[in-house]
Amino acid sequence: MINFNEPPMLGTELNYITDAVMTCKKLSGDGKYTKLCNAWMEEHTSASKALLTTSCTHALEMAALLCEIREGDEVIMPSYTFCSTADAFVLRGAKIVFVDIRPDTMNIDEKLIEEAITEKTKAIVPVHYAGVACEMDTILDIAKRHNLFVVEDAAQGVKAFYKGRALGAIGDFGCFSFHETKNYCMGEGGAMLLREPEYIERAEIIREKGTNRAKFFRGQIDKYTWVDAGSSYLPSELNAAYLWAQLDQADEILNKRMHVWDLYKEGLSDLEKEGHIQLPFIPEECEHNAHMFYIKCRDLEERSELIAYLRKKDINAVFHYVPLHSSPAGRKFGRFFQEDRYTTKESDRLVRLPLHYNLSDENVTYICETLAGFYKGGER
Ligand SMILES: *Cc1c(COP(=O)(O)O)cnc(C)c1O
Repeated sequence: MINFNEPPMLGTELNYITDAVMTCKKLSGDGKYTKLCNAWMEEHTSASKALLTTSCTHALEMAALLCEIREGDEVIMPSYTFCSTADAFVLRGAKIVFVDIRPDTMNIDEKLIEEAITEKTKAIVPVHYAGVACEMDTILDIAKRHNLFVVEDAAQGVKAFYKGRALGAIGDFGCFSFHETKNYCMGEGGAMLLREPEYIERAEIIREKGTNRAKFFRGQIDKYTWVDAGSSYLPSELNAAYLWAQLDQADEILNKRMHVWDLYKEGLSDLEKEGHIQLPFIPEECEHNAHMFYIKCRDLEERSELIAYLRKKDINAVFHYVPLHSSPAGRKFGRFFQEDRYTTKESDRLVRLPLHYNLSDENVTYICETLAGFYKGGER
């Protein structure tokens, strides 16, 4: 079976983990490897601060706390996303207002956002689907005029750019994921990026159980204490050491993924030209990171047939995200703004193809040939 995903492993991960255990003798958070990862993120984005977290979900929770979301506040986001995007705000009592997506990028339709704003709106949460940026200039402009926070769900957007700016560091707060299904991984993990220095101290306090421990470790105060409400959002050094191996060789992973992505694009272009399928669209101002390769088929029925066919041919292709507004929790905690023109229709016909660091050229060629067989070989 050709796996849909395999966590990347470059070979140096175990050396760093051994170093953390044997030499550093520190396994809890914020040691050498967490600091290396934070510094890497600050160097590769314009964030004034990056903080490694236990997940992207937790980074989103930190963002919701920093935005001071309260019961009854409204938060605008697409329905076509992972449930964590909404969960973080729902935990603070927010009502989710789902805005339709653009069919070309599957990202929130920036042209619909302004109308969805009410006096209760506190934040806009753009999700950069497949590492392809949302139309951030428009979104930042709307947020500025209405005095709203922008929280980027950049779970899929590490090392992707919008007009040369790194995703995650464009809005007030940005959230990365280092889950094993993402481009760079530490098992479970993520990061919070802060654009403005004024939020750094509060973010550090929230992440460290509501204490001013970060300040204490920097020698800025002589004892640390409980100063605010918080939680435990810092990961173990074991996970950070695994991640450091990958960030240190991030281009190696990126180049490999780009190569696979380009092979797919090339290998499937005939099927697209002949009108059988649609391939991903990358707007001019976006530099993507080959997080995902998807195709769109005609409709839900054809997609189910295609996924079953691929499985028979030992290829594990998947669909994802049942739009949140049609899930039980989405109906309870949110409402869809105006008409669902594209969210359900476009998500129903999307199929993700295998894409990971270990995927061979031969396998990609085989997958492309198998898709051609489905559409043209009369094998259905
Ligand atoms: C993966 C993902 C998340 C959750 O990331 P975790 O690190 O697993 O919490 C959130 N949002 C989006 C868009 C994702 O793809």
